[in-house]
Amino acid sequence: MKLSVWTYEGPPHVGAMRVATAMRGVHYVLHAPQGDTYADLLFTMIERRGERPPVTYTTFQARDLGKDTADLFKSAARDAYDRFKPELMIVGASCTAELIQDDPGGLATALGLPCPVVALELPSYSRKEHWGAAETFYQIVRALCPKPEAVPDRSRLSANILGPCALGFRHRDDVREITRLLEMLGIAVNVVAPLGAAPADIARIPDARFNICLYPEIGDETARWLERVHVQPCTKTIPIGAAATRRFIAEVAALAGVDPAPALDDPTLRLPWWSRSVDSTYLTGKRVFVFGDATHAAAAARVAREELGFEVCGIGCYNREFAREIRAVAAELGLDPLVSDDHLEVEAAIIAAQPELVLGTQMERHIAKRLGIPCAVISAPVHVQDFPARHSPQMGIEGANVLFDSWVHPLVMGLEEHLLTMFRDDPEFHDGAGPSHLHSHAPAPLVPSETEHAAVSAPSDGQGAWTADAEAELRKIPFFVRGKARRNTEAFAAERGLATIELATLYDAKAHYGR
Ligand code: SF4
Repeated sequence: MKLSVWTYEGPPHVGAMRVATAMRGVHYVLHAPQGDTYADLLFTMIERRGERPPVTYTTFQARDLGKDTADLFKSAARDAYDRFKPELMIVGASCTAELIQDDPGGLATALGLPCPVVALELPSYSRKEHWGAAETFYQIVRALCPKPEAVPDRSRLSANILGPCALGFRHRDDVREITRLLEMLGIAVNVVAPLGAAPADIARIPDARFNICLYPEIGDETARWLERVHVQPCTKTIPIGAAATRRFIAEVAALAGVDPAPALDDPTLRLPWWSRSVDSTYLTGKRVFVFGDATHAAAAARVAREELGFEVCGIGCYNREFAREIRAVAAELGLDPLVSDDHLEVEAAIIAAQPELVLGTQMERHIAKRLGIPCAVISAPVHVQDFPARHSPQMGIEGANVLFDSWVHPLVMGLEEHLLTMFRDDPEFHDGAGPSHLHSHAPAPLVPSETEHAAVSAPSDGQGAWTADAEAELRKIPFFVRGKARRNTEAFAAERGLATIELATLYDAKAHYGR
């Protein structure tokens, strides 16, 4: 283990805490030294929660190590039950407490508390936060959904949504969006878990016909167990982006035996048309570096390339357990995947790839800011800004719309800066001009210079004849700046004695005036 200022994932007991915090009626008793209570901050501050996470720490100190720390754990567990009366208690140890080997599971069981107790064995030194969350969810579901004698009555058409959790990237909003899609298909949501589920809800999971696993990092282990033991099939497609959402709808409709058309025809999907409508000069082929958890990074790379026309110039993930998906996408793109949880290595890869946009986590947002590159967040680890007050999913149809907005707008800002530079000396839009809608208050426009008139009226007096492809490219520039772009390019060509304006001349002029 090494100390780090930034880390993509905490130790596995933070993953367990994410599950306990997401659920209702659950309390987590954590054998941990005084300093480990820092994890509370993650939830109350980042998610803007109105209450503390449901965790009791034993908070032993150095001087307690010579005494009976097991007794400390037992009284903490008893007090936590008396105070919070949970329907389910989970118990475990943090990294430091793991070393003193007090066996929280055995101690809690010996107390004979009047609620079920799930003991967690989370190896802190070999596993991380996502694994801890997945294992905790799995142990809870295993404990509360025993192997049935017979398959339950599943005549009601319903599905479970598995994986959404506390501190997840837009999980709250994804659940709302996917629930809306299911409603369009006439499928009821049986249980969403762990987010918002009480232990009694977990016990109802086997009643659904099938499962939808939205976040494999947290829900996959449980979904595979439910498939095996409770004969519940599970979806494989992650509905991020327009194409994947369509595949997801088709997969869900096939599992449910319903017609996918009502959800496929949703008129609120705007991403495909919006991305076709953006000026290709500014967006097509933009170099994008993608990094995050494997599921979100793989989905983002596909959307970036196939739905927005970007060129993915680097891809990676920080969670090794799911790196297979990233390797597959990287192979499709002809790239070497970066599988690393060292943010300095990620920073070096971003610098080497020279992207024009970074799609990453909260860490990459910092890195990109330092490098002056536009960035959008696509994955946990999250920051307070990733819990917006408004509805802002990543998945489903509205999620696809949100991807367009949040990935394209940072680039469009660059376009605006470029326009401002081009307009700096314009007769109508120069710095001293007043607002155009207050004409009577506006100062007189600058008088265009003789040379500007000459350039506009007689662009091809032997100098600056445009080739067909340069002219075609010029026509792609929005009409309201096209005249200015033509004049600038011709002036640029004249200064250099170029008789013909080729495509490259147009780009060179653009770069020259954009400086
Ligand atoms: S010992 Fe473990 S729980 Fe405590 S601060 Fe370090 S990583 Fe966090």
